[in-house]
Amino acid sequence: MFLAVHATVGALLGNVVVDPAASFSLSFASHFLLDMIPHGDQYLYDQYKRGDDVNQAVVRVLVDALITAVLVFFLLSNVTFVSEAGVIAGIIGGLLPDLLVGLFEMLKPKGRGWTGRQLLKFNDLHMRNHVFLIRRFFRGDISSKFGLVVQVLVLGLVVRWLL
Ligand SMILES: [Zn+2]
Repeated sequence: MFLAVHATVGALLGNVVVDPAASFSLSFASHFLLDMIPHGDQYLYDQYKRGDDVNQAVVRVLVDALITAVLVFFLLSNVTFVSEAGVIAGIIGGLLPDLLVGLFEMLKPKGRGWTGRQLLKFNDLHMRNHVFLIRRFFRGDISSKFGLVVQVLVLGLVVRWLL
């Protein structure tokens, strides 16, 4: 899912849970639950993996990261949270899985060093989780357009809830 969705759900969990360690862990777990829901980015990811339209995938991630940064800045400066530390821990926990996947994509570790092997394992786990429901219960992912609409709606609802 979009980084923006993971970050705002993390903020929401942080505002409810308050304790930073609990908020971090719950948000980290929420990332995997959210990613399991079909959300229309599997085609783009497969394309990227095949080496077609790599630029489109990179632009998408950059735009998403920019929107996420603006949104997080907006929320932290406009909302009075129960615990700002809890909210920040939630945002970091929610984003961390994709940051690790991004690190994997950038470094492309060959699996020799310990860190490389762990990154590789984590990336595999993340990707298997991403297609788990799609492969088992659905006939492929939903369309990218529908996925975009669904994710923007979820994002809107979460931000509305926080304000
Ligand atoms: Zn993810």
